[in-house]
Amino acid sequence: MLELGLRCQSFVDVVSTASGQSWALTNYCPVPAGPANSDHPPGFATALMNEHSPGRGRIAGDGVDGRIGQLAAKAYLESESSFPIPDRTPRPSRHRTGEPLTTTSDDLSGLIRRAEQGEEAAVEELAERQRFSTDDRLLRLFVDSIDAGTAGLPGWLVASALEGSNDGPGCFARAVAARWLASPPAALGMSAWELAEALRSQGIGPDLLAELAGPDFVWVLPEAVRGQYSSAALPLAPSDSESWPATAHSVFSGTPDDVCRWCSSPLWTALDLDTSDPVDSRTADAVTEAIAHTGWRGRLRLTTCAGCVCDVAMIVFTEVRRDGTGQWSPHNSADLLLWEPRTRHQTPPRTLFADASHGFCATPFQADPWHSRGSVLGGVPDWIQSEDTPDCPGCGEAMPYLGMISAVDADPRCEGGYYFFLHTTCGIAATIHQQS
Ligand SMILES: [Zn+2]
Ligand SMILES: [Zn+2]
Repeated sequence: MLELGLRCQSFVDVVSTASGQSWALTNYCPVPAGPANSDHPPGFATALMNEHSPGRGRIAGDGVDGRIGQLAAKAYLESESSFPIPDRTPRPSRHRTGEPLTTTSDDLSGLIRRAEQGEEAAVEELAERQRFSTDDRLLRLFVDSIDAGTAGLPGWLVASALEGSNDGPGCFARAVAARWLASPPAALGMSAWELAEALRSQGIGPDLLAELAGPDFVWVLPEAVRGQYSSAALPLAPSDSESWPATAHSVFSGTPDDVCRWCSSPLWTALDLDTSDPVDSRTADAVTEAIAHTGWRGRLRLTTCAGCVCDVAMIVFTEVRRDGTGQWSPHNSADLLLWEPRTRHQTPPRTLFADASHGFCATPFQADPWHSRGSVLGGVPDWIQSEDTPDCPGCGEAMPYLGMISAVDADPRCEGGYYFFLHTTCGIAATIHQQS
């Protein structure tokens, strides 16, 4: 709209009094000269929060049960080791000098050369120019350089240019993405999988990703995460969904085996799967492939407490057994609670089953916590917030990811996604809930 001549003030006047109103818009608008655009390095917020650490001592000293504050402090201390407190001396901003954003191709080529040599300021400037660009000129320069064999441009910057220049079917950006997915150039410094992940994190959805990769594309997980995720993803559906095959198996008919020890509600049978179902071998084979990385064989009925993981707990652990029974895990201590659960005896959400009627998902990136039919077994998680893989409370190892249920598919009372993990050796499952 601004390109079409709309004045910035008119834009703010309209949007700030409508559904587009936000704190960032009316207080710290991320415009070039604004305080929100001060090149805050990663870890800035961590350092800021750690400056409040004296308050933690006050909480303990005053006898206040500041559990949330203590959990937050622990999280900030942990992240401090990955993001050391940065030097927050304000850096001079190019934009405060009023220099215009327009630049000739010669200047851009110079910037790209500096970025390829690892100059951070050049990378930042290219990222900013990409954000404000209205054509694919910058992307074409990136592509020329990478195809010519020059390495050094950060993958996220290239993926952001591909996403930002995506202009519909047949456009230059899509043609390049398809060509690189089929055969990633060495100078790109990314495997096809890593390029796909980068494109997804920049906002390219799973359907377009599948289209770009083509129907014959084979998704091969990088070695480093092969025990953690699955390249095969299978849709999950409630048993009353339209596409549910008549041969559906495994509906649990036993007595409810346990209740939540926190809120006394019956446990929710979230997933009911079987890698060796004799009635439906097609689904059984597909389930076997989607969860092969977990090493689980046989019936897998995963229970959890929907209310507690959604409302009051950080995580819920349950035990799983091959005969389809399961129970509350003694590893669920009160330390996992953010606040006290109420007794609720609520009706658990619906159970989801593997749906092999249309085969595997087109990509391992198909999970979608926002939409109906966004529930997926296997694949890789689409985290709403940050990545939050739990460690197994039995052995301390990272728990392999099993799948995700979109709340829309299971329980309209809740929003967001339920993320499931399974450590077969210990017979322990974990449920994490995330929402916006
Ligand atoms: Zn509960
Ligand atoms: Zn374990």
